Amino acid sequence: MAKSKKVSGKQVLPKMFKPTGADLKSAAGRARKILAGLEQLYPDAECALVHNNALELLVATILSAQCTDVRVNKVTPELFKKYRRAEDYCEVERAELEEDIRSTGFYRNKAKNIQAACRDIDEKFGGKVPDNMEDLTSLAGVGRKTANVILGNAFDTPGITTDTHVIRLSRLMGLSKNSDPVKLEFDLMELVPQQEWTRFSHQMILHGRSVCVARKPGCGDCLLRKHCCYGQVSQS
Ligand code: SF4
Repeated sequence: MAKSKKVSGKQVLPKMFKPTGADLKSAAGRARKILAGLEQLYPDAECALVHNNALELLVATILSAQCTDVRVNKVTPELFKKYRRAEDYCEVERAELEEDIRSTGFYRNKAKNIQAACRDIDEKFGGKVPDNMEDLTSLAGVGRKTANVILGNAFDTPGITTDTHVIRLSRLMGLSKNSDPVKLEFDLMELVPQQEWTRFSHQMILHGRSVCVARKPGCGDCLLRKHCCYGQVSQS
């Protein structure tokens, strides 16, 4: 692993860190060890958004943008009682839906996105959330990230969710140099066995929330440090 990131003994800030070519060359071997470490740390990792079906997960995922999963999980029990089918979200006045989801923030945009996606589900897919990437990403406002959440957690089809934690940690660990979510997703698909894609995403998100936090990664206490490129040059 390259050890060239320390500049004049100064700490390289996590934001400024970029894996070197040598880091990326060793990524496959390190990824296996990182996966084993994540499994040891987070054996019970699973989707934190409470849901009972694909539609509920789609709505919860839209609500989770710029909002904590805890907050979303406080709002959804009542919401899911009131809106059971895609059609229900379309029939209600936008203002009423906005009020129902207000506490998750950015509620105007979220209500608009929920109604647009539900209209497509209703009109193009007979009211059922589609179970494949192509159809899911054809829904208004649904990109690969959201589609992978739904595929992985509602349909048992593995998918890597490139959320903010997964992007940050993958770069720090030296698994990819990309910050573009789609390019990064394809890099990770090469490194992580397919059956692990969904689980790996949950584990990375948990690690990003608890240890490898954005402001100051806790490298000193991190079990993955030996296999992590930033961990090798971090002075913390
Ligand atoms: S050593 Fe651990 S905490 Fe530090 S950057 Fe790597 S994964 Fe994050």
